Amino acid sequence: MSLKTSNLAFKVRVDNQIQNEMMRKAVVKAQETIGANRLKMVNELGNWEEWRDLAKQIRNHVLANLDAYLYQLSEKVHQNGGHVYFAETAEEATAYIRKVALEKQAKKIVKSKSMVTEEIGLNEVLEKEGMKVVETDLGEYLLQIVGDKPSHIVVPAIHKDRYKIRQELHEQLGYNGSETPEEMTAFIRQVIRKDFLEADIGISGCNFAVAETGSVCLVTNEGNLRLATTVPKTHIAVMGMERLAPTFQEVDVLITMLARSAVGAKLTAYNTWLTGPRLDGETDGPEEFHLVIVDNGRSKILESEFKEVLRCIRCGACLNTCPAYRQIGGHGYGSIYPGPIGSVISPLLGGYEEFKELPYACSLCTACNSVCPVKIPLAQLILKHREHIAQSGMTPAAERLSIFGFNFANSHPTLWKVGMKVGAKVAAKFIKNGKAPIQVGALAEWTKARDLPTPEGESFREWFEKRGKN
Ligand code: SF4
Repeated sequence: MSLKTSNLAFKVRVDNQIQNEMMRKAVVKAQETIGANRLKMVNELGNWEEWRDLAKQIRNHVLANLDAYLYQLSEKVHQNGGHVYFAETAEEATAYIRKVALEKQAKKIVKSKSMVTEEIGLNEVLEKEGMKVVETDLGEYLLQIVGDKPSHIVVPAIHKDRYKIRQELHEQLGYNGSETPEEMTAFIRQVIRKDFLEADIGISGCNFAVAETGSVCLVTNEGNLRLATTVPKTHIAVMGMERLAPTFQEVDVLITMLARSAVGAKLTAYNTWLTGPRLDGETDGPEEFHLVIVDNGRSKILESEFKEVLRCIRCGACLNTCPAYRQIGGHGYGSIYPGPIGSVISPLLGGYEEFKELPYACSLCTACNSVCPVKIPLAQLILKHREHIAQSGMTPAAERLSIFGFNFANSHPTLWKVGMKVGAKVAAKFIKNGKAPIQVGALAEWTKARDLPTPEGESFREWFEKRGKN
């Protein structure tokens, strides 16, 4: 499982990220630009709320009938001449792909951007076999050459500015041009072109599979995917098992929502449909086509109280509006799924042991709820995680003890009354200049950036009683 992007502790990651001025500037700029474009496109479409309702309905319908649609999809892919493999775990998925690659004696593999292949740790498995795996999405490529991890589900290299990218291109590939995006892109294009022509296998993700026709729909803005899916003789598409739509009609709605929510565009530059391998008489396309359908914990989510998260179409709009993501970037979360969607899905796919802090990387402002095109109640699901974490005793002992104390006092009126009275007097004596006298634990953290108000020495009840008398 390669969900994890860092071995550092959550607090260390967050501290590092907050010090990373380049990342924070780049994320703010991207959030503002994409956010403004998204709003323009949403308004232009009109009836956005009705579109959201429709998209939610479609995704709910798919989830309610997932078994039937998966069966229909696999039958169609077979009829089209392709192969289908259902992988229950990440290990099963990578083992199947590894087997196909070994059978083909693949030396070079070109990939287009795919979060599910990141999730299952595919590159590492293939590289262990001595195969060269080349990421051909521009952002992913920039990360791959320096061994970095994506920090956004749509814009993987969002945490870097053009100067940093130029420097890394110079160090890794001897690039001597300027830091203009056009020049750097043209340079990379030349380098990768050779990889496309030499590749034995192309691997892609899948934005939506169409059950009725057995097609795989992929949306991109760079055109790399078209080369990755048509030049190599073998193509392997990897999809999360919930990424389905019944027919092209529903895909039409979902793609409309996806492009507008993800990058603030009417449509992505390239919309590609793969329907099995190349047929007799056709001039392009792979000779062999494999569809790997990955469960990896999704069935469990489907039967849990978190199932609404499976409506996600990975548009990234929740990341682009999140104030916590704005400060700590994707790497602060330590998961390939960061931001609000990551705070919900990472603990579900990777377990609380690894990701129990993520539901707390949230101010519960609910901005994510209001932009999600499929109306996932992200903030409520984050709260549900906190509930589970607290109930299973994973929160720090000091926190549990103080909540227990608060609960006890709060349910004993006399104790509460006396406590407030004495507490107000004692606190008034000891809290000075916005700081508690003893700087420990959560209190110390809390007052690092905030003033602790000094009480007047009178409890609210005392004040209220006096007010009544007056
Ligand atoms: S949760 Fe909603 S907003 Fe976030 S990535 Fe998924 S579909 Fe987009």
